[in-house]
Amino acid sequence: MAEQRFTTRSEDETEQFGSRMAELLHPGSVIVLEGDLGAGKTVVARGIVRGLGSNKESVTSPTFTLMNPYPDGRLPVWHWDLYRLGDPEELDLIGAEEYLGVDGVTLIEWKERGGDRVPTGHLIVQIDYDDEDPEIRLISLSATDHEHGKIVDELDGYQ
Ligand code: ADP
Ligand code: MG
Repeated sequence: MAEQRFTTRSEDETEQFGSRMAELLHPGSVIVLEGDLGAGKTVVARGIVRGLGSNKESVTSPTFTLMNPYPDGRLPVWHWDLYRLGDPEELDLIGAEEYLGVDGVTLIEWKERGGDRVPTGHLIVQIDYDDEDPEIRLISLSATDHEHGKIVDELDGYQ
């Protein structure tokens, strides 16, 4: 399946990358954000939220709230950070299935903590540090199903 690679040289560039991607998203899109702490997952999420037209002032990591909602853009965005989840079953207790992969755009950081509650069809944004320059990020896009693969293909030619 399709894979694309991009390089960004600043936080702003990474945010713009997210905003550009947002134009290609539709109801049911699920974006999994991968990368070490501080890689830039939340920066990409902010770009997507802004790109979809939310006017909420700040887009920060929902580390303690698990999910931050941005319902006021072209599509609603549900931004999850599962870092503090003890067990995938906790997602059932808070009624997460109502938001995971349905309707709007789902963004997920630390997907592995969510186990099989995370929708299997998704687009993966892998963000890696550069060995030499602390401002450079290497972003790889891939998809686990055809639907999300089309979005990866459409980003071809960007940059
Ligand atoms: P994560 O959500 O992956 O833990 P954040 O998005 O919260 O990480 O933070 C990324 C950090 O890296 C920010 O402090 C940002 O200023 C910094 N940074 C430096 N260069 C870049 C870049 N090219 N893209 C994104 N963030 C960058
Ligand atoms: Mg984060």
